[in-house]
Order: sequence, then structure tokens, then C-alpha cells
Amino acid sequence: MELKWSILINLLIVQYLSVVCVSEEFDFFYFVQQWPGAYCDTKQSCCYPKTGKPAADFGIHGLWPNYKDGSYPSNCDPDSVFDKSQLSELMSSLQKNWPSLSCPSSNGFRFWSHEWEKHGTCSESELDQIEYFEAALKLKEKVNLLEILKNAEIEPDDGFYSLDSIEEAITKAVGHAPGIECNKDSAGHSQLYQVYLCVDTSGSEIIECPVLPKRRCASDVQFAKF
Ligand code: 5GP
Ligand code: 5GP
Repeated sequence: MELKWSILINLLIVQYLSVVCVSEEFDFFYFVQQWPGAYCDTKQSCCYPKTGKPAADFGIHGLWPNYKDGSYPSNCDPDSVFDKSQLSELMSSLQKNWPSLSCPSSNGFRFWSHEWEKHGTCSESELDQIEYFEAALKLKEKVNLLEILKNAEIEPDDGFYSLDSIEEAITKAVGHAPGIECNKDSAGHSQLYQVYLCVDTSGSEIIECPVLPKRRCASDVQFAKF
């Protein structure tokens, strides 16, 4: 009798631990968009998707669950493999708004699968796979970074703009300060590469960042042509 109880209790503990491990909690998302001109003009260069050169617009890099202390979970559920058949209705929107620019040239599935498995599986307590990709696409629709910057006369013309003016334009339009990440073009110029916005755990509302990613930019940064 005692043995039966001990087996039952052990089973309950194992079940509890498996639930806790799979439904990992997080505090907010970073919604990260990349400027294709800055991905492509580096020493490493880029490859256009098989569907052709993407539009000269910011593209989605990812929607990344994060903790308030700046750390983040990754690859949370090896059992939840990327299932491309779920994305057929989103395909044209993903190709347009979430193009993959890495080499060799691809149709995007490798990038989306990487983002789902590394980041998406850590927000499964909130969003399943379709909801995760839909949430990112909706956020992109909601925040038109290129238009926001153009309205502030900040354009992808290879010109240099103060980091402050870029941050200010986005903060005014969105209502919350962005994180800006720069990289270097092949000539070594600091340039606008990625923009981070913070989003609540439902994946729908932009919020003030609990912690901004620590990324370095020069005080004046180039906005590369694409
Ligand atoms: P890197 O080292 O190039 O900045 O980042 C490499 C990868 O690590 C990113 O593409 C992303 O997958 C992950 N990563 C980097 N920084 C963060 C962060 O602050 N939060 C989250 N959630 N992921 C990050
Ligand atoms: P992260 O771990 O940095 O979120 O994801 C970056 C991974 O996705 C890298 O392995 C990178 O080669 C691949 N990748 C594919 N397409 C792109 C792209 O357009 N931009 C970036 N930043 N990474 C891409």
C-alpha cells in the first residue's frame, strides 16, 4: 500500500515538473526589425530570397520572449517542431514582411523555423505557432518604421543621421522608446541595423521596455540605401 502511494506521488511530481518546464514563463517580447540595406552591405554580404529582392522596407527579424533582467529563454520545447503546413495562409505576407537575407538564398523556411524553435517555443504558454507568426505580422503592420522615419526626414539615402533624432522620431510616433542596434558596413561606418520595440506577453501591445538591449551605435549613424 505504502509503495503504491510513493509511486503515485512520484508520478505527480514528474508530471508537475514537465508542465513547469514546457510552459516557460517570460516577462515581455522584443519585436525586432532589421534594415535590409544594413544586413547586405557588410563584409559578410547577403543573398536575396528565391522570390527576388525584397522591397526597400524594414523586415521582421523576430519576436523574442525576454526576462526583465535582460536575460532570455531559448529553445524551450524540442517537441514543438516547426510545421510549415500551418503557415500556408500567411505565406505571401511572411515572404513580403519577414524575408530571409542570409546565404545561401532560401525561401524563408529555414529562418522562420529557426525563429520558431529558438524563440517561439518559449512563448507557447501565450501563442501557438500560427498565433506567433500572426502576432509578429500584425505588429509590423501597426508600426511602419520606414514611414515614421521618412516623416522625420530620415531616409535610407546613405546619409548620416544622429542616433538621437532616430530614437526621438520613433519614440514620438510609437509612444515608447526603441532600442537601436547598429552594425558596420564594409567601409567600417556605423549604420542603423535593427530596431527593438517591447511588446506585452500577449504579443499585441507595444509597451515601455523593462530593459533596453545593450547595443552600441556611434552618435551619428548611416541609413544605408537598399
Ligand atoms: P547577437 O549576438 O547577434 O546580438 O544575437 C544573436 C541571437 O541571439 C539573436 O538573433 C537572438 O536570437 C538572440 N538574442 C540576442 N540578444 C537577445 C536579447 O536581448 N533577447 C533575446 N530574447 N534574444 C536575443
Ligand atoms: P538569431 O538566432 O540571431 O535570431 O537568428 C539568426 C539566424 O537566422 C542566423 O543563423 C542567420 O543566419 C539566420 N538568418 C536567416 N535569414 C536571416 C536574416 O534575414 N537576418 C538575420 N539576422 N538572420 C537570418
